[in-house]
Amino acid sequence: MNKTNIYDLEPSELSSLLEGPSFRATQMLNWVYKKNVSNFKEMNNLPKDYREVLDEKFVVGSLSLLKKEVSTDGSEKYLFGLTDGKTMETVLLKMKEDEFDDEGKKTREARYTVCISSQVGCKVGCAFCLTAKGGFERNLTAGEIVEQVAFIKKDKEFGEEKSINIVFMGMGEPLDNMENVVKAIKIITHKDALCIAPRRITISTSGLATKIEKLAIMDMGVNLAISLHAVDDELREKLMPINKAYNIKAVIDAVRKFKADRRKKVLFEYLLLGGVNDDIKSAQKLGKLLSGLDAKINLILFNPYEDSEFKRPTKEAAEAFREYLANKRFICTIRESKGIDISAACGQLKQRDKDGR
Ligand code: SF4
Repeated sequence: MNKTNIYDLEPSELSSLLEGPSFRATQMLNWVYKKNVSNFKEMNNLPKDYREVLDEKFVVGSLSLLKKEVSTDGSEKYLFGLTDGKTMETVLLKMKEDEFDDEGKKTREARYTVCISSQVGCKVGCAFCLTAKGGFERNLTAGEIVEQVAFIKKDKEFGEEKSINIVFMGMGEPLDNMENVVKAIKIITHKDALCIAPRRITISTSGLATKIEKLAIMDMGVNLAISLHAVDDELREKLMPINKAYNIKAVIDAVRKFKADRRKKVLFEYLLLGGVNDDIKSAQKLGKLLSGLDAKINLILFNPYEDSEFKRPTKEAAEAFREYLANKRFICTIRESKGIDISAACGQLKQRDKDGR
């Protein structure tokens, strides 16, 4: 009999599957999500025969850790094996170090962001992306998405009170697996499960305009990030073939609807590729395109991987680009590259594992 993965269930679904009093679901979820216990035998406030029944019907988790790389900057990359033999990655980014006062007392905990995957491979086919080179394999289940966060919280011994941010920016296009992503978010944010606030979650999309509109209607309280990467349709189509289906105007129009619903700043990600889209003319066009939008702009410096056709922009070009937009009153930052000494490009650890390196 195929066992049901607890991470796949919303608390209300689990409740309806369990026999006995309704508080059993809350008790079990407390063991799984708050105490990181995955063996039913250890759940000692549940009756013994009840635990045996649970063991027959359910399982906690399905991921197996195949490899982990740790960067000198504190970022960590996890390669997970799935039950069907496929693999996918999750990255833990250390955004800020612990802070101490003059007497050496810790005044602020280090801050982390978990970059999670939503699919094995991806259909979108961005030219600069290593994940795209392997094609699309399958959607991740809601449970496989939730477990990436639960696994890292356990691995790093993050307590319940530790706040972490989550970005759907690993392998895959999250809005191409919208049903499972939305379900995973409901589990991640539920008070009886991971209890992470929606405002700490960001969905990063290549710009599936119709799905952005749907997300706006759902009003889940999560943040939206758009991977724009180019300021004219001709170049964007070359970099991101999805632009043929949803061009820049369609994406920006959809974002305007999201913003009207959420009254929040939307993040625009712009990958700076040396000599391709990092000139001042592009910065000027980007400023025009986003004018009137309450937008933040994140400039990302391309991380070259073996045989990649693109190169990293110079520091000077990136800084000039940022300065132009900042002078136009946009909040514009250059995102520091994390984990540059490990397989930091999306899909790189999976590829290395395949190649036996
Ligand atoms: S960058 Fe993201 S959307 Fe584009 S191919 Fe890679 S995983 Fe897919």
